[in-house]
Amino acid sequence: MRILIAADIHANLDALKAVLRHAEKSGGIDRLWCPGDIVGYGPEPASCIALVRSYQHVAVAGNHDLAAAGKITTGDFNPAAAEAAAWTAGQLGYEERGYLAQLPDVAFEGDFTLVHGSLRAPIWEYVLSMPAMEAQFRLMETRYSVLGHSHVPFLTEEGDDGRVWMSNWQDGDLVNLPESRLIINPGGVGQPRDGDPRAAYALYDSDDRTITLHRVEYDVTATQQKIRAADLPASLADRLAYGQ
Ligand code: ZN
Repeated sequence: MRILIAADIHANLDALKAVLRHAEKSGGIDRLWCPGDIVGYGPEPASCIALVRSYQHVAVAGNHDLAAAGKITTGDFNPAAAEAAAWTAGQLGYEERGYLAQLPDVAFEGDFTLVHGSLRAPIWEYVLSMPAMEAQFRLMETRYSVLGHSHVPFLTEEGDDGRVWMSNWQDGDLVNLPESRLIINPGGVGQPRDGDPRAAYALYDSDDRTITLHRVEYDVTATQQKIRAADLPASLADRLAYGQ
């Protein structure tokens, strides 16, 4: 089975479509996993929700999903994120907000745990530091976990001796899933933050037991125009050009 892992889509329909096209071209996909933040920041939240739901999928809640659903307040959001969350809520119907509201904090799929932030703070924690990685490993009940939230692709492995090391994960890097434990972040589809503006996603092949990172170009200018036309904060359009 081929599973596309699309984290932090952030209502960027052009990026999501480009990622899906890219994966379809290389052999199709059987499932979609979304480690949170289908919406927020971007200009097409309803279409992104509909496209995700058109696939057999597993999604967990991100902070932006719950803010748009009205389940959490935006008191801890930065001003641009809070403004976008209010705009997003206004774009969604009752049924769509209900879909976001019912997303679980954590989902288990075989050897994998999906969570947006971390197991100790499912929608809020950015797992980027070694102490945060070690805390995640301590709480993991499956061999692997898949995170989003930081919009930075990486792999962190825990050796048999308990040593933990993090590696950058770049376009085309194929990894054979190890016996040891692994934390996986596929980067962000709709708002990459590692300095590369291309959409990021991972493809997990459960037959080969491999997982590969891909970066895909999409029409950034078109998305920026939609963000400006929607009167969303201009900074949300600008940052897409830089992958920040
Ligand atoms: Zn996000």
